[in-house]
Amino acid sequence: MQIMKPQAGLYVTLEKGGYIKRNLITNSGEKELPRTTIKDEIIEFSELNFGPYSQVVDYIQEIADEIITEGKEKPTEADYKYFDRFISTTFALLGELMETSPITAVLTEASIEDSMPICDYSIEYIEIAKFAIIERLREIIDFNLFINDTFYNIYTKNTIDEDGEHYFLSQVMFKQELTFDGKLTARYFFRNLTEYYVFLLMQFLSAKPKITRCECCGRYFVPKTSKATKYCDRFLQGDKTCKDLAPSLKHKMMVRTDKVVEAFDRAKRKMYRRYERNEGKIYMPPKGITYEEFYVWNDAATEARDKYLRGELSEEDALKIIEGDD
Ligand SMILES: [Zn+2]
Repeated sequence: MQIMKPQAGLYVTLEKGGYIKRNLITNSGEKELPRTTIKDEIIEFSELNFGPYSQVVDYIQEIADEIITEGKEKPTEADYKYFDRFISTTFALLGELMETSPITAVLTEASIEDSMPICDYSIEYIEIAKFAIIERLREIIDFNLFINDTFYNIYTKNTIDEDGEHYFLSQVMFKQELTFDGKLTARYFFRNLTEYYVFLLMQFLSAKPKITRCECCGRYFVPKTSKATKYCDRFLQGDKTCKDLAPSLKHKMMVRTDKVVEAFDRAKRKMYRRYERNEGKIYMPPKGITYEEFYVWNDAATEARDKYLRGELSEEDALKIIEGDD
């Protein structure tokens, strides 16, 4: 049997105790990434701020909208010009991501490569490329919002995916590689970022995790023991965690029943639904919002909640920012 030429992508090996080993394959070879746990990786992903990223994606969408393919036999000079700009902006974004988040960059590029037709610069090629690239860039934002919604549902003991819209939570196929060198090793192979996180989410959910909200910073975490834990281990100030600082903090209030935190949750879910309604549609219903609007609100509201929890903002002022004017 022939050994296959290595393709860019990510290998994931499941290990004991919820650990994963990850090997990233790029054009310059294979590199082992720091070992992590499924839980840490999925929680870290849920906290990523996609605001700046979604702004760039919206900008790429604007460039794509300048390329008019309908009713044409051949692209015009202007179409080629915008198409070049569309591709180069996409690759500039991926290049920047390579610095901060190599997994995101490598898997997004791989999935774009996999969904592109053979390049012949025809109208059909440009049309397919336009939609495929935008779709690949956007799906990760959708999945990030979905994970946040899922955490909220676990925390509030709601049903996950009540409408049964997310088929991937019950069945999905992944590629697996087996190597034999006296001993058999199986590792999963990914060339799509969303699939990698779907995989992690399924592993995470199958462990039936308890999700708690930190009564100090208001963020989700999975308690290490079954003993009731109120505070998380995130660093709040320097090397001091919520657990270290919470007992001495002035506010000492119950985040769980706090008015501002509750208002934040309610508003975030409302905004998420509005965003979902608008997603992928050209026609925007009166209550629909775009990615950018969602993130502008999300940044301001999260900051208001955090400031309030640190005692730097009054309840009234925080609620004003979170609830906005509708
Ligand atoms: Zn905390």
